[in-house]
Amino acid sequence: MTHTRDSCAARDEADPLRGARDRFSLPPGMIYLDGNSLGVLPRGVSERVAHVVAAEWGEGLISSWNTAGWIDLPARVGARIAPLIGAQGHEVIAADSTSVNLFKLAAAGARLQRPRRAVVTEPGNFPTDLYILQGLEGWLGGEIEVRVVGRDQLMDALDEDVALLVLTQVHYKTGALHDMAALTARAHAVGALALWDLSHSAGALPVDLNGVGADLAVGCGYKFLNGGPGAPAFMFVAGRWQDKIATPLSGWMGHAEPFAFHDQYQPAPGIRRLLTGTPPVLGLSVLEAALSAFADVSMAAVRTKSMALGDLFLDLVEARLPGAGFEIACPRDANARGSQVSLRHPDGYAIIQALIERGVVGDFRSPDILRFGLTPLYVGYADIWDAVDRLCAVMATGLWQESRFHVRAAVT
Ligand SMILES: *Cc1c(COP(=O)(O)O)cnc(C)c1O
Repeated sequence: MTHTRDSCAARDEADPLRGARDRFSLPPGMIYLDGNSLGVLPRGVSERVAHVVAAEWGEGLISSWNTAGWIDLPARVGARIAPLIGAQGHEVIAADSTSVNLFKLAAAGARLQRPRRAVVTEPGNFPTDLYILQGLEGWLGGEIEVRVVGRDQLMDALDEDVALLVLTQVHYKTGALHDMAALTARAHAVGALALWDLSHSAGALPVDLNGVGADLAVGCGYKFLNGGPGAPAFMFVAGRWQDKIATPLSGWMGHAEPFAFHDQYQPAPGIRRLLTGTPPVLGLSVLEAALSAFADVSMAAVRTKSMALGDLFLDLVEARLPGAGFEIACPRDANARGSQVSLRHPDGYAIIQALIERGVVGDFRSPDILRFGLTPLYVGYADIWDAVDRLCAVMATGLWQESRFHVRAAVT
């Protein structure tokens, strides 16, 4: 199908999610294709933060732990994330970072399956996922053995030695989507548990944790959930495991009676035992307010549009940039892709910097990946047309060759 800017604008007119853009505060003129790295600011968040700071903290002070419900924020925010990932409200809790939550749930999940030792993951998984597993392997002195297995061999690698499968559903570089149902079923068939990292899934596509029988999951609050820089992350523990699981970070907020101040640790019933220290009230308040952007949003509609935006982007790159040195680095089939598209180019870093200067924000992942996140709540079809149009201009004019675009910043 031949796309034009007019045909893209017509698709925006007919888009059932069109109105959702008003739920966000976007800088005028910017086409933001990086919501898979840091989501944009939802409307209402600034007001909520101002209220939490001035009224709840400034005036309510210590009493706000009770009167403003601060103490319940981890469970309340978890319950709001739950419907986005196919979980029950009491199966999700918001806390800490994804890395810390991975540490807790990987240690806990592996221990549930003792004396099995193998923890299976894949090479090229998000670095922190690999580093946390490597660290655990070192600390647990032989209790676990990490097996890093290529994508195509994962099904076969799941055998009776395996305690835990730890995978990220959507690959952060390529956007490739794992078959969560098939891999979880295979893990269960050999007596292993499945721990899914939903950092690039939650808020990006429909996830059905209970539908596939997943055991454990973690995910990120600041990407597609728009919870702001360094937002708290979340954990999912299937109901059947909640009273069997033990956390390796047994802090007071996970105690059965934190305000009894007992000397002896005793885990709280349910998922609250996964909490460690005092909840970050400001961050959780932001995340809670940000989740309002998903009110009445059909994740099926988000997925349909996300797939269409990705296909449009790739169609346009193929049609308009042949011979520019780009290679498609994500699955061409939308069903096999998360909510991003990726291109490969040897000068990817400089090209992305030049594109950002032209008002199209994507990002770069070493060594040669250009990433474009697709967030259907605030990105439209004409935005994709304009983004590729500006990419064409950056290539045609050779703008990216200017030396200022080659200086690497600390964060790419
Ligand atoms: C973004 C991301 C993380 C982030 O972890 P932090 O602890 O928040 O830094 C972890 N895993 C995956 C797969 C991610 O994409």
